[in-house]
Amino acid sequence: MAKKKKYTPKYPLVWQKKDFYIEIFCSIPNIATGILLTTKKAKFVIDPGDGILRDLNKNISKNDIMEISDVFISHGHHDHLGGLWSFMTYLSVLKRKKALNIYFPEGCQEIISIHKAFIEVYSHELTYNINLTSIDKPKKFKRKSIEIEPFKVNHREPLKDGSSEYVPSLGFKFTYDKMAICYGGDTAYCDSLVKMAKNSDLAIIEAGATDESDDTHMTMEQAEQIGRTAKEFFLVHVPE
Ligand SMILES: [Zn+2]
Repeated sequence: MAKKKKYTPKYPLVWQKKDFYIEIFCSIPNIATGILLTTKKAKFVIDPGDGILRDLNKNISKNDIMEISDVFISHGHHDHLGGLWSFMTYLSVLKRKKALNIYFPEGCQEIISIHKAFIEVYSHELTYNINLTSIDKPKKFKRKSIEIEPFKVNHREPLKDGSSEYVPSLGFKFTYDKMAICYGGDTAYCDSLVKMAKNSDLAIIEAGATDESDDTHMTMEQAEQIGRTAKEFFLVHVPE
């Protein structure tokens, strides 16, 4: 039997239609995910993993970084938010005035803790407000002419005893100018992602399972199956 070729995405992954643009700087399990989404009027970050500040600086101007208004976090694992602290500090060093909005799944203890510690350390010099929005019952909302539809996905984390436990986790669908980008975050195969990815212009689907018994991520086959229901898709979060 022919051995299946290992697939490794080549980052950055970039997709653009008109002024709807998304760049995945990186998405490697246990290392980092970092995504920039922009339109003419909007600049969002999705999953500010380690290295996000370096990657933003390499790719867009300081002024553009200062224009980033909203940060969407799929879940609290370190590889999806490890760069948040330095990103927030950088904005203060540059004397940002506009508020920064951070959206994350309800029950995500990591964001609450990082934010609390950040405010304790920097409140005397912080030049901008940070608005936290935890999402429990996902419903659509609009920011900068982009409709954002969060949806619950099914991600887990391994425990010491070898079992696993549910992690509050979201995917996000961004719709703008009749185009839709669906980002599933980290998840096992789940109906909500199947539904949201279908007919999207771009689906960004994780294929992070190390083997068939992995109940925290999807296999390449599952990810591809979902991806193919969208017009285009990227497979990300593939173990290296
Ligand atoms: Zn995760």
